[in-house]
Amino acid sequence: MNPTPGLSEFEFIDRLIKAHCAQGQPFYAHPQALGIGDDAALLPALDPGYQHVVATDMLIEGRHYFPDVAPDALGHKVLAVNLSDLAAMGAEPVAFTLAAGIKRIDVPWMEAFFKGLLALARLHQCALIGGDTTRTAPDAPDVFSVTVIGRVPIGAALCRHGLREGDELWVSGDLGDGSFCVRERRSSKKLLWPEPRLALGLALRGIAHSAIDISDGLLSEVNHLLKNSSARAQEGQSFCAHLNWSSLPLGHEVARALSAGKLSEREARIFSATGGDEYELCFSAPAVQSARIRRLADDLNLPLTCIGKIRHADSAHVLWTDAHAKPLDADLLEELAQSGFDHFRHNP
Ligand code: ADP
Ligand code: MG
Repeated sequence: MNPTPGLSEFEFIDRLIKAHCAQGQPFYAHPQALGIGDDAALLPALDPGYQHVVATDMLIEGRHYFPDVAPDALGHKVLAVNLSDLAAMGAEPVAFTLAAGIKRIDVPWMEAFFKGLLALARLHQCALIGGDTTRTAPDAPDVFSVTVIGRVPIGAALCRHGLREGDELWVSGDLGDGSFCVRERRSSKKLLWPEPRLALGLALRGIAHSAIDISDGLLSEVNHLLKNSSARAQEGQSFCAHLNWSSLPLGHEVARALSAGKLSEREARIFSATGGDEYELCFSAPAVQSARIRRLADDLNLPLTCIGKIRHADSAHVLWTDAHAKPLDADLLEELAQSGFDHFRHNP
């Protein structure tokens, strides 16, 4: 299909995509590799001992991003959210495809989009090797969907089902700015230019028992860890997470609003506990790894915060306590229980 009378689909692919996608990508120099231009791409054989990792995430105009978003930030973000999934698996990137459903080809906008996209692709040596481009209906939102391919040594992936009794639960970076800035309709670096935690994911191989990225909010993701791990546990045994409310790391914007009196402490921590669009990693590791994880935080120059512990329980659930090890009040617990982003539950 031809998305615009001005620039044909094929000119678009040749001029805006094909001309730049190989730059700085060793993938394209590999004799077995075939990138953009044929009916499908060909990947070089994996090194022995590795397995493929595949993830897809899409961004929809009006739902995941504001229509007036800076195009270079959007290009960055659509790849970043996918690389974040690889990071959460402890995988390293190999290549990706991009499917674009767009109303028209606005050349300067698209050039900026690919500038942001391909800069991140080069940074992480993840080659754009194909995709699809179609025109959507005039009143339909634009859609960008990336499928990323990575690799991980066989059996080394960090999965959601890996929790073990006695594990400590950690989060990287700080939390809350993404959702706080969406509410305020303010831009933030966190929201527009998320940094996928790939180096952390790789370093956690052999240290962490399980990991997940925080795209839908910490509490919701912890519940995924608990449910997936409980489903794999021995008959009748589940996991619960004892989480420390006062240990949650607050994002800079949230912390600033708190000190300016624009948010209460309680509101600030609710953003941190439940806000989506973070792309930090939440992972569990045995307590003996604690010193190593703290050293890792220094090496990566990335805060890593222990926010609680994993215990066996009769059912998968979260137990919150405050700084004095007392349970949180019932209203707050109710508010937290209602949170967690579910596209189909929360939106018309
Ligand atoms: P086909 O008709 O076989 O699906 P297309 O004409 O859609 O092929 O695409 C031609 C080439 O351009 C293919 O290699 C495809 O992977 C690539 N391509 C198309 N759209 C995109 C895109 N948005 N991003 C990256 N590669 C693309
Ligand atoms: Mg096609």
